[in-house]
Amino acid sequence: MIRMPLPDMLARLKEKSGLSEQDILAKIDAKCASLSGLISKEGAAHIISNELGVKLLESSGKIRDLLPGMRNVEILGRVTQVFDVREFQRADGSGGKVGSFLVGDDSGIVRIVCWGTQAEVLRQLSAGMPLKISGGLVRENQRGYKEVHLNEASRVNLSPQEPVPEVGKVQRKTLRELQESDDQVEIMGTVVQVFDPKFFEVCPQCNTRVKEVEGHWSCGEHGTVVPDYSYLVNVFLDDGTENLRVVLFRNQAEKLLDKTKEQMVAYRVAPDSFEPLKTELLGEQFKFVGRVKKNTFFDRLEFIANQVKKANADEELAKLDPQ
Ligand SMILES: [Zn+2]
Repeated sequence: MIRMPLPDMLARLKEKSGLSEQDILAKIDAKCASLSGLISKEGAAHIISNELGVKLLESSGKIRDLLPGMRNVEILGRVTQVFDVREFQRADGSGGKVGSFLVGDDSGIVRIVCWGTQAEVLRQLSAGMPLKISGGLVRENQRGYKEVHLNEASRVNLSPQEPVPEVGKVQRKTLRELQESDDQVEIMGTVVQVFDPKFFEVCPQCNTRVKEVEGHWSCGEHGTVVPDYSYLVNVFLDDGTENLRVVLFRNQAEKLLDKTKEQMVAYRVAPDSFEPLKTELLGEQFKFVGRVKKNTFFDRLEFIANQVKKANADEELAKLDPQ
């Protein structure tokens, strides 16, 4: 089942039907009322789109328009970042591997997750390379990010015939300018507080959280597993306009702290050894690219980083220089 958020439905209905947003909302309300409130606004929007002959879930081929649940998607873009391949063991003892990379087009950036032999393609990739992906499945990961998963039947073509769009420029914002819907924006600031890392047990195969059942760790999909550890680190960032909590998962946490996975996992059993890092990072300047998320529990905005860079003072000064 493909889930499309209501604002996206409205945008597409508006674009394809030529009606105003007000007219569409009125139709949705009328439909809900005529069905005695038995359907949601999203459900009503699906009915309205059928009545208007608008195909809501047709893929535009742009990364921004990918939706969790879409199958057989095609993406034409350029590699922006390549991550390591991870090997893991299945419950039956057989081995597997998974790796990922980021691809961007002029509408956004998305993570491509390669399973099994598809992970081999990662060896050939480097930043800037054009490619065409076909046969991908869109899923939403635990952090609410869309990912495109490739299996044995998917294809990665490294010499596409079509013209490949350039990756859209990432917009820089001050912390005060950030809004709840911001995605792929860059922020820069000074680290003013570092919190203890949080660890959680994940399935080594699919990376989702595992539950402890009668002394065993169990994945909903893969059964009893020997858990792997994932982690996140939160820091407070200040850029002079505002301060904000930045959440760094796994790879991003490793980059910020300049630690390997082994070193990170060691802090779980020896949390005291993390203490010096909390002061070492204070006053350091970093750039982060990511998206804004509303933490509904604390009613505040947070920034989920998917790229971390140490800020280069010379580069920043050059940006300010009018010449
Ligand atoms: Zn699993």
